[in-house]
Amino acid sequence: MRAHLEAGYPNEACGILLGEADFRNGGQLAAAKHVKDLVLVPNVWEVESEREGRRNRYLISPEDVARADREASRKGLDIIGFFHSHPDCPARPSETDREFAWPVISFVIVSVEKRKAVTTNSWVLRDDRSRFDEEALQVI
Ligand SMILES: [Zn+2]
Repeated sequence: MRAHLEAGYPNEACGILLGEADFRNGGQLAAAKHVKDLVLVPNVWEVESEREGRRNRYLISPEDVARADREASRKGLDIIGFFHSHPDCPARPSETDREFAWPVISFVIVSVEKRKAVTTNSWVLRDDRSRFDEEALQVI
């Protein structure tokens, strides 16, 4: 994940998390999510201006999500989250991230400073979409 995000610097880079999670509880996850695999995808954000370019926006194409979903099914997994980098910015969700995210699944954000991945945080949007809560991350 870090290598993919560092390679994308100074643009935002992104990907999809495949794994196992118990989604039965209406999204109120008591149990942990387990990431088992990653799908690395290109940032296909259409650059419209310097202010909103790929350095601070990302977009994953619906085709890549569909491909990741098929790959997950083949492996007996689900899409349990997405990840993207914040080049030279903190690993906290932006207002744009909140607007486009949805509850239950994980949004992992990695701050990449001068092409080096430094901080990795995971976030889940509240059901009322008011804010993100941070999830504990454990590398096993
Ligand atoms: Zn972001």
